[in-house]
Amino acid sequence: MTASEDCLFCTIVAGGIPADVVHESDTTVAFRDVNPQAPTHVLVVPRSHHANAGELARHEPATVAALVDSARQVAEAEGLGEGYRLVFNTGAQAGQTVFHVHLHLLGGRDLGWPPG
Ligand code: 5GP
Ligand code: ZN
Repeated sequence: MTASEDCLFCTIVAGGIPADVVHESDTTVAFRDVNPQAPTHVLVVPRSHHANAGELARHEPATVAALVDSARQVAEAEGLGEGYRLVFNTGAQAGQTVFHVHLHLLGGRDLGWPPG
């Protein structure tokens, strides 16, 4: 799907809003979350607009793998060898607030399970 003018993360991908970008690939962009929940909290997004992980998997399955591989590279660069968490919140009840799919990369502290 092409970029949506009304989408916050499409605007960040296009450079229309500043973000602390830590990694880029042909299909993905990774930037620090503005409200970090861990010492490392990075969002990895596809350049293309899809509302959630399921829609991305349906339309662009290779990009799901690209998101995970970008997250792996960021985790290595951040020194998260002790472990890290990858999360796709999907739908409002799960806490999704931005409806452009994004993979949360969280690390740098002990992370409880299950999350709240
Ligand atoms: P969700 O709740 O949809 O899974 O995650 C959305 C995330 O986007 C939140 O963690 C929130 O802090 C982050 N966020 C919201 N607006 C911005 C922004 O303008 N810039 C950045 N870098 N992160 C944002
Ligand atoms: Zn978008």
